[in-house]
Amino acid sequence: MKNAEFMQLMAEVTQLNHHQRNQMIAVLNQHNDTAKAIEMIESRVDAKNTCPRCGCANLYRHGLVSGLQRYRCKQCHKTFNALTGTPLTRLRHKSKWLTYLEEMNQSRTVRKSAANVGVHRNTSFRWRHRFLTWISQDCPDKLHGITEADETYLLESNKGKRNMDRKPRKRGGTANKPGLSGEQVCILVARDRAGQTLDFVVGTGSLNKMRLTTALKPVLDIDVLLVSDANPTYMAFCETEGISHEVVNISQHQRVKGAYHVQNVNAYHSRFKMWLERFHGVATKYLSNYLGWRRAFEQHRNLTPKMLLNAALGNFQYLTVT
Ligand SMILES: [Zn+2]
Repeated sequence: MKNAEFMQLMAEVTQLNHHQRNQMIAVLNQHNDTAKAIEMIESRVDAKNTCPRCGCANLYRHGLVSGLQRYRCKQCHKTFNALTGTPLTRLRHKSKWLTYLEEMNQSRTVRKSAANVGVHRNTSFRWRHRFLTWISQDCPDKLHGITEADETYLLESNKGKRNMDRKPRKRGGTANKPGLSGEQVCILVARDRAGQTLDFVVGTGSLNKMRLTTALKPVLDIDVLLVSDANPTYMAFCETEGISHEVVNISQHQRVKGAYHVQNVNAYHSRFKMWLERFHGVATKYLSNYLGWRRAFEQHRNLTPKMLLNAALGNFQYLTVT
């Protein structure tokens, strides 16, 4: 815009009525959000400055596509942008991403978020899980010291899936068979006393030694003292792996044994389940995304949409563990 035209526009801004002024602000905010989102996205390439395919650092700029700088690699001749190879590649409407992430920050449902942001329900669903793909990968490498572990169960859900091999339950619903069965999905949570937490969707049916070993063996530091309830699976695992172990016998009403208890992890289970209720049943397939989403709230206080966007882009260093 020429300067003279801009001065004219500025002069006319004062004549806008209330409604027009709000519309103008909305347009400006949207541009602002786009600019903010694009700046954060572009910083990925600025930070690495290499081709995601061959790792070559010899790049040249090759036009703009959907507001993002496109690069061409001099070695493999492929083009890419800052989102290539990330779960967010080819998602549209970047002007709405930060607004959408605020919906996620408020734990709103797919439907409600869609209405608030002004996107289709399917878009809302797709965005949620694309954003969560890497947000849910933000977790500690190892747990240290006294570490509580316990499993909990949720009813398996094929929400959204066609051609089910059993009669669908009313959402939420109750199991067709009493007790623990293949209808229940086992979730294992381990938490150390620094509050670092790891969660695992270990499969349908009960926890066994193999499942426990697969989940916990790689993430327990050598100094770990594992605390569990009297489920013999934990004892068998700790014996085989040479891990120090304390048992709290909850069925014998022994909730605390000195510093040893599983109350932190049990409280974590209930916070997760309570939080999950607002979504009215979550497909088992997406359960680990929801666990990761919940973990983000648990591990980082005062999350902002920008922090969530960074995590969705794999820039976890912007999130500080509290
Ligand atoms: Zn290349």
